Amino acid sequence: MQIDLHTHSTASDGRLSPSDLVARAAEAGVEVLALTDHDGTDGLDEARQSAHDAGIRFINGIELSVTWNKRTVHIVGLNFNPDYAPLRAGIQSLQNFRERRAREMADKLEKSGIDGAYEGAKQFSGGKMLGRMHFANFLVDAGYAKNVRSVFKHYLVNNKPGHVTGDWATLEEAVGWITGAGGVAVIAHPARYKLTRTKLRKLIKDFISAGGQAMEVVSGSHDVNEMKTMACHADDFDLYASSGSDFHDPAFPWIKLGRLAALPPKCKPVWDLFL
Ligand code: AMP
Ligand code: MN
Ligand code: MN
Ligand code: MN
Repeated sequence: MQIDLHTHSTASDGRLSPSDLVARAAEAGVEVLALTDHDGTDGLDEARQSAHDAGIRFINGIELSVTWNKRTVHIVGLNFNPDYAPLRAGIQSLQNFRERRAREMADKLEKSGIDGAYEGAKQFSGGKMLGRMHFANFLVDAGYAKNVRSVFKHYLVNNKPGHVTGDWATLEEAVGWITGAGGVAVIAHPARYKLTRTKLRKLIKDFISAGGQAMEVVSGSHDVNEMKTMACHADDFDLYASSGSDFHDPAFPWIKLGRLAALPPKCKPVWDLFL
C-alpha cells in the first residue's frame, strides 16, 4: 500500500493547491495521504473533499514548529480534530510569530540592500501564511540567487542577512495540542537535525514524556542509512514508525510524492493506530 503522511500545499509553503496535491498523489498511486502544512490546517477541508472524490483515504495532518534546546524541530500531528480549541489557539500564536518574523526578515534584508521582500514574499504566499520558502521564491525570482537551495544557504539560515531567530512552541505544548485533539504526534525527519546520538535520544525521551508516540523512519529527507538508524531508535523506544515524502513542489526533483521505501521489517506502522 502506498502511504504518504507528510506533504505540503499552498496553505503553507507548498507549490500545489490542496486539490492539485491530492490529484498528483492519486496519479502517483497513493492510497493513504496526510496533508501536513506548517502551523495551519486551512488546506484540510479542500484536500479531504478532493481525496474523497478521488477515492483516496485522507488523514488530517499538520507540521508544528517547535523550539527544543534552542533548535527548531518539527512535530507532525496526524488524525486529530482540527477544531480542538487549544490547538486553534496554539496555531494562532505560531501564525502571529510568523507574521512578526516576516516583517523582521524584510527589515533585515532591506538593510542589506534588498527592497520589497515582504510584499514580494506575500505574492508567493498568495497572501497567506509566510514562511522562509516564500522569501526564497521571491529572492530567486528577483535574481539574488539561482535556486531555492542556494538562497537558503546565502540568505535565510543562521548568521545570514535574512535570518531571524525566535521561539516557536515548546515540545510539550505542540505534542499536547495534538494528543489533546485526539491525534498522534510524530517527530518529523529526525535525521535532518544533525543531532549527536545522545542529543537525538534526549529529544526522543522528552518527546515521549510529553505524550509523543511516533517518529518518521522513512522520509524524503532521509537516505538509506539514516532510515536504518531511525528504525533502530524507534525500536529501542518502542515508538511507532511513520513514512512521508515532505513533498513541497513538483520542481524539486529530489522529493517525489508517494514514492517511498517500505518501512524496515521491525517497525510498527503508525497507521495501525488509525486505519
Ligand atoms: P520556516 O518554517 O518558515 O522557517 O521554513 C522552513 C521550510 O523551509 C522547510 O519546511 C522547508 O520547506 C524549507 N527549507 C528549509 N531549509 C531549506 C533548505 N536548505 N533548502 C530548501 N528548503 C529549505
Ligand atoms: Mn516547508
Ligand atoms: Mn519539516
Ligand atoms: Mn514538511
